[in-house]
Amino acid sequence: MSRELRDIITATKKQLEHLRALGVDGIQAPTGTALTEYVGRPQAAVAQRPEPASVENVRLEERRASLFGEIALAPVKLTPSTETFEQIHAEIGDCTRCPLHLERTHVVHTEGNRKSRLMFVGEAPGAEEDFQARPFVGRAGQLLTKIIEAIGLKREEVLIGNVNRCRPPGNRAPTAEEATTCKPYLLREIAIVQPEVIVVLGNTAMKNLLDTREGITRLRGRFQDYKGIKVMPTFHPAYLLRDPTKKRETWDDLKMVRDYLDSHVSSRVNTDQK
Ligand code: URA
Repeated sequence: MSRELRDIITATKKQLEHLRALGVDGIQAPTGTALTEYVGRPQAAVAQRPEPASVENVRLEERRASLFGEIALAPVKLTPSTETFEQIHAEIGDCTRCPLHLERTHVVHTEGNRKSRLMFVGEAPGAEEDFQARPFVGRAGQLLTKIIEAIGLKREEVLIGNVNRCRPPGNRAPTAEEATTCKPYLLREIAIVQPEVIVVLGNTAMKNLLDTREGITRLRGRFQDYKGIKVMPTFHPAYLLRDPTKKRETWDDLKMVRDYLDSHVSSRVNTDQK
């Protein structure tokens, strides 16, 4: 194998690892697009040296094309959705797809402004949410409302949802299987709204949206990517109620979100609240 080919493979591996770390869980494979269009040539030296069209170089190009021609790296973006929240909620119906239905009172759907630039995602409803059929209305929810107001927004102006829509008994974290069952509905809502920023609250929400093994303490305060959407991991408000000293860091994270939204002009109309 030539050095150039080895360099291309190394660069490809690095790029794939980087994308995985960002939470990318799949790669589109448009046909007939050269890998180098996406990842660039692996070494500046290669780009600077014009290659004569020798038989050897033509063969190298052919080998490169047959190796990578079908797996070109394109950034994974959300495909626009033509669904509505009503369709998704009707499909969820009186859900019995996972064991959480056994003890729930209500299915708790995502609520708020469906044209919002900003979305908050938590783990699963607690007792008050289960009772009222609304996300984040208990003590943690009241703190979340204050956090939203601290960055100059009203609760009704943003979108608020959870990975799971039924309350886990005793407020335990949803199992991986329960989360995997429910999460697709949240992802479909995200595809409809395409918010510019998603704030993931706590470890469970973060791990489910970003598909990462990193913990919240390591990733909080640093923008991540979910299919082209900026994702800010921060502490869950229930954790802040237990350890108020963490409010300082949460405030720093939310200021970054506010600054990002302020510095990116949007043509969205912030109405249509549900
Ligand atoms: N905690 C969550 O993660 N979600 C809620 O809706 C309420 C509390």
